[in-house]
Amino acid sequence: MTAGPHARTLVPVMRPWLGVEEQVAAAEAIASGWVAQGPRVAAFEQAVCEHLGAAHAVAVSSCTAALHLALVVLDMRPGDEVVVPSLSFIATANAVRYVGAEPVFADVDPVTQNLTPETIAAVLSPHTRVVILVHQAGVPADIDAVRALCDPLGVTVVEDAACAIGSTYRGAAVGASDNLVTLSFHPRKVITTGEGGMLLARDGAIAARVRRLREHAMSVSAADRHAHGVPVLEQYLETGFNYRMTDVQAAIGVVQLGRLDEIVARRRALAEGYRARLGTVPGLALPGDPPWGTTNYQSYVVTPTEEFPVSRDELMQRYLRAGISPRRGIMAAHLEPAYEGHPHVPLPATELLTRRSLVLPLFHEMTVEDQDRVADVLIEAVG
Ligand SMILES: *Cc1c(COP(=O)(O)O)cnc(C)c1O
Repeated sequence: MTAGPHARTLVPVMRPWLGVEEQVAAAEAIASGWVAQGPRVAAFEQAVCEHLGAAHAVAVSSCTAALHLALVVLDMRPGDEVVVPSLSFIATANAVRYVGAEPVFADVDPVTQNLTPETIAAVLSPHTRVVILVHQAGVPADIDAVRALCDPLGVTVVEDAACAIGSTYRGAAVGASDNLVTLSFHPRKVITTGEGGMLLARDGAIAARVRRLREHAMSVSAADRHAHGVPVLEQYLETGFNYRMTDVQAAIGVVQLGRLDEIVARRRALAEGYRARLGTVPGLALPGDPPWGTTNYQSYVVTPTEEFPVSRDELMQRYLRAGISPRRGIMAAHLEPAYEGHPHVPLPATELLTRRSLVLPLFHEMTVEDQDRVADVLIEAVG
């Protein structure tokens, strides 16, 4: 790998694993003369469906766009309430505002960092229409338990699996459920197309509408129009968006998807390496698999508890001095200026986690020496 803009950071928090195959695939897409959404996007969608066991996949420009379109096809309206964890990347809550609905923040489980039936039940109202269940940091949430709460109430579950491609739930891939599921291919996630996202759906009619909405709600896609021998006049069926992925991105995505199993296996081995080094450090909570599935360790979030002698912010300083780039743990949207004054129930677990936790570096090409250096900062902190 060549030195990027962060070359002075010796151990980055994340580095995408991209090789010559991705370069060749992108170059082939360019040489083909078709760089906008086209055959490579269709091939990437097909490959994701096969890999995850999904019925329909629609590639879009980001996971944020996929979340927006999910809420559009669920016909969210002003006054509708959508339950989200505050403890998530802010895009989860923002997507709700895009459709004029109200994000309602629910607390999370302090171990999985995910919504639970109990935290959701605490914020349900007669206006609740949707719950966005985030598989935070790759740790799968308990989908069936949340559905058991929501289904009798007519509340729809959408899975924000931005972080969770390659994680599993009850023996199947995350993404194989019959919920609408969104994925991200941002470089901070497990596989990347630079920018990119996808919406997975079981229902073909919903997928077809999402497919139109990403392309200005045209009745005939640009690619199909070109494939016809005769002129085809398209119609614009509703107010759509330009949320298309390019064929250059999709070409990279096909190669990255082929690496997914290897990437996840490597991430899990590195997580084992952290557990071997840090498992006996007192006052330090480490991430792991929940009883119902496996995590891809998209982010390795550790939480120093009150017994831990050094504060999270002091630890971050020590890491920077050691040439290591940690990140704070998952953000809490309700604490950001964008949500100032937005009403919410008490969110004690969310506030504790966002204040105390940090993300340790974990990337495919991380070495044993890198891991030792990262672990040593925590080990030295406890003396
Ligand atoms: C990264 C992330 C997003 C946004 O993904 P983009 O592809 O960057 O739009 C949404 N939700 C969660 C939980 C994320 O981690």
